[in-house]
Amino acid sequence: MNLEQLFNQYKEPSIQGRYITLGSIAPLLNKFNTNNQVAIIGNSVLNNPIYRYQIGNGKTKMLFWSQMHGNESTTTKALFDLFNLLNSDSELARNLLGAFTFCFIPMLNPDGAQLYTRENANKVDLNRDSQNLSQPESSVLREAFENFKPDYCYNLHDQRTIFGVGSTGKPATLSFLAPAYNEAREINESRLKAINLIAGINTVLQQYIPGQVGRFDDSFNINCIGDTFQSLGVPTVLFEAGHFANDYNREETRKYVFMALVSSLQIVIENDIVINKIDNYLIIPQNKVVFYDFIYKNVKINYDGIEIITNFAAQYKEELIGNKICFSAYIVKIGELDDYFGHIEYNGNGGLYFDEQVDFPKLNQKADFYLDNDLKFVNGLMIS
Ligand SMILES: [Zn+2]
Repeated sequence: MNLEQLFNQYKEPSIQGRYITLGSIAPLLNKFNTNNQVAIIGNSVLNNPIYRYQIGNGKTKMLFWSQMHGNESTTTKALFDLFNLLNSDSELARNLLGAFTFCFIPMLNPDGAQLYTRENANKVDLNRDSQNLSQPESSVLREAFENFKPDYCYNLHDQRTIFGVGSTGKPATLSFLAPAYNEAREINESRLKAINLIAGINTVLQQYIPGQVGRFDDSFNINCIGDTFQSLGVPTVLFEAGHFANDYNREETRKYVFMALVSSLQIVIENDIVINKIDNYLIIPQNKVVFYDFIYKNVKINYDGIEIITNFAAQYKEELIGNKICFSAYIVKIGELDDYFGHIEYNGNGGLYFDEQVDFPKLNQKADFYLDNDLKFVNGLMIS
């Protein structure tokens, strides 16, 4: 199976970039709704519909939800690519629809998607609400889980650009976790299925993004949805779509999410989840906070008449302005940065820092500055 080719064939062209809202996906769901496969299973705080798309008639039941965090849209894009594949009437599609019954909730938090926030409209993190079920979105997911009785759950998220694969200097383009079901982080039969599934996905992804797959921290928190479903005995896999070089729109990462989704289904079909692959899972390096978007090294600053050589880092803030996500670079760290990497790194070679106001970088100010008189940086990037 050529996953790259499959992606190119089925990629949904109408949704791109980071700002994916109900307005982006509703027309597509409408197109797939030829026989009542799409239903509204509840409403958000602001009374927006939460859609469910059910397809397939196989015996293995797969529950997927994405955009539980509203500003985490990469996996939503990949789901729509998968929907195109499933609707293609190809041999692969027929195999998948014969093996699985799929229940997709492609935007659990439509208000957060619209506002481009992690939380819902009540400013609650839905991924800390799986016990209290204080929010309508949390109840919708819980009811879907109880009605559908899945054999597997896919908990689909994005992670920030700060995560690397251990200390290798490579970004964690995708990270996975088989969440713990208890405080002791023991491994029971259902958690082992999730572990084996991730080990299989990782083997496939290493061919495409070697060294760019991470394993998320498995500290137990029953308020997190994955930990809750795992504790209820359903193998649950956390997907975290992360950074790929220069891909702030996450269109490259979207491809790898699609590849991971398709290959995971293949693994379940081939029943390649019964062999114990704990060792293969544990060799996936843990995610680590080691990246900034920009690092500037060996910069001379003049602080109260004393010149020193130092480093600083800048990080993009994602801001919804109009209908677009703007990436604005702010200075977030000054000083020793030996244990960190920049997605973009500049060596200042002792050039003297100055900006419109002062001769030294300040925290939380925009990364617009000069080094000596000849290098100009705007929004983090060197432009001359
Ligand atoms: Zn998330």
